[in-house]
Amino acid sequence: MKKRVLITGAAGFLGSHLCDKFLAKGFEVVGMDNLITGNLNNLKHLTGCSEFTFYDYDITNFVHLSGKLDFILHFASPASPIDYLKIPIQTLKAGSLGTYNLLGLAKEKNAKILIASTSEIYGNPLEHPQKESYFGNVDTIGPRCVYDEAKRFMESLTMAYHRFHKVETRIVRIFNTYGPRMRLNDGRVIPTFIGQILENKPLTIFGDGNQTRSFCYVDDLIEGIYRVTLNDYHYPINLGNPEEITINQLAKELCEIEGIKMKIKKRKLPKGDPLKRKPDIAKAKKILGWKPKVSRREGLRKTISYFKKIPNEMEIRMQPKTFETFIQR
Ligand code: UDP
Repeated sequence: MKKRVLITGAAGFLGSHLCDKFLAKGFEVVGMDNLITGNLNNLKHLTGCSEFTFYDYDITNFVHLSGKLDFILHFASPASPIDYLKIPIQTLKAGSLGTYNLLGLAKEKNAKILIASTSEIYGNPLEHPQKESYFGNVDTIGPRCVYDEAKRFMESLTMAYHRFHKVETRIVRIFNTYGPRMRLNDGRVIPTFIGQILENKPLTIFGDGNQTRSFCYVDDLIEGIYRVTLNDYHYPINLGNPEEITINQLAKELCEIEGIKMKIKKRKLPKGDPLKRKPDIAKAKKILGWKPKVSRREGLRKTISYFKKIPNEMEIRMQPKTFETFIQR
């Protein structure tokens, strides 16, 4: 009998790639998304797929699903700093109430649940690179805290359900990831720079551009998540690409790939923007036998070619194939 997995945030960047991965591995997939930041375009290729069902639903309300459920992957959350500023309360609710509802569902269904945590739980890190044992340096009241603290709470709640209710839980801490299906206007640096290059506009570099990030191509990350889902290890695992780069270098690299002269426009560094970030992935290598394979140049090329192909702001309406009634408590 096929294993059945619920993926929340299914119409988002990572959620939609996870739907593809689990379908390709022979799972039956139920996708859920309230489409605040997700986009049905990311799932339109699954229209008519008999193993896939989609529900337009907000997981911060009580979540019910009839039938058996083997796995839950909780990826519903705004994930871009400009989204946290626009929808701060929803961001807090997705990480806190959403996680609470899904842990309850996992307990009820005896399902294994994987939650998407983040490198943001390390805040503006004083340890570099960041190991899973580092507790972080996080501002509780700044503009980014709605994401960071919701994800920290999410981890605590998940461990409590593991210890107290014996729910099978998995926690991945995801570092900066990029690739096809990001929103061109989501404010994150790679789609923003690519959009600016394609429109022949100057690249907006925040601060002095010497802050660093380590960017992982989406296919590598999805493989890592798949391995964690099937693994027995229940403590947090960092997933990301440890190749660190400054934002200035990233801008230069993108312009080189496109063969254009770099034009830049300096902007103020946003409040709470971490100065450096790089995962220590020794644990993932040891436990999962996983490490990223796609080089940054190759990943950036694939991402640019995706953005060249998509028509701007294309909207489609996809009818869910089947519809279940959700019981509100
Ligand atoms: N950044 C930038 N210009 C932009 C968007 C982002 O210089 O137009 C910088 C931002 O200040 C941060 C880095 O790029 O230091 C990564 O930002 P992003 O929003 O992609 O992710 P996060 O800060 O969550 O790692």
